[in-house]
Amino acid sequence: MKHLIGLQAYDIRIKEKLAQKEKGPAAMQKRKDDLAAAEALLQEKIDELDSHNSLSRETENEIQDLDERLKKAEAKLSGIKSNKEYKAALKEIENIKREKEALEITVIEMMEQKDELVSACDDNRKKTEEMKKQFDQELKQIMRDMKILDKDLKALEKERERCCKGTDTSLLKKYDMLRGHKNGIAITSVIKGVCQTCHMAIPPQKFNELIRGDKLMNCPNCARIMYWGEDERYQDHEDVT
Ligand SMILES: [Zn+2]
Repeated sequence: MKHLIGLQAYDIRIKEKLAQKEKGPAAMQKRKDDLAAAEALLQEKIDELDSHNSLSRETENEIQDLDERLKKAEAKLSGIKSNKEYKAALKEIENIKREKEALEITVIEMMEQKDELVSACDDNRKKTEEMKKQFDQELKQIMRDMKILDKDLKALEKERERCCKGTDTSLLKKYDMLRGHKNGIAITSVIKGVCQTCHMAIPPQKFNELIRGDKLMNCPNCARIMYWGEDERYQDHEDVT
């Protein structure tokens, strides 16, 4: 029984360590996803800025084209003989100028938009770099924690093995089977007639039998192997460090 109590204590510790070990990769995945989202947002802003830049280059080219058309139209003026043609030429010049002014206003607006985009890019870049730095640090920390956990686990497994060696094989089989079925807890202490795992009272007669301690008994409710928790002989075996 003492061996089983020790074994149970080791198994609980091992289960805890394994659960801790699983947390590491999950936390990393979350961080990775966050970082990927930040990087995608940054790329989106960079693409937006790029297309904005090419649009503004196009607009500037259009203004240049209009300038040339204006020059040509103005040069034509001096050669014109008829009044009607002159009027039409003036009208064309007027139209070109109006078109050019509209584009110039657009260029100014685009410059303001560009400033906003550039600062959004900078902000996102800074944020992403900060996240990357944090990510690297956390990764290192998690790796360190994992190493420690592995070391602890190895030590616990060794102790567990030592514990197993001193235990009857058929009892071990029973213990392992119950552990598999009962959420990792195969044995339970009974204090003042109450199972400390399922919290059900066991019949007084059975409790008296348990205190006598001359046979292996299972909790009538949860089926775990019972021991009398107030028995001083078992106290030292309940905690392993
Ligand atoms: Zn029980």
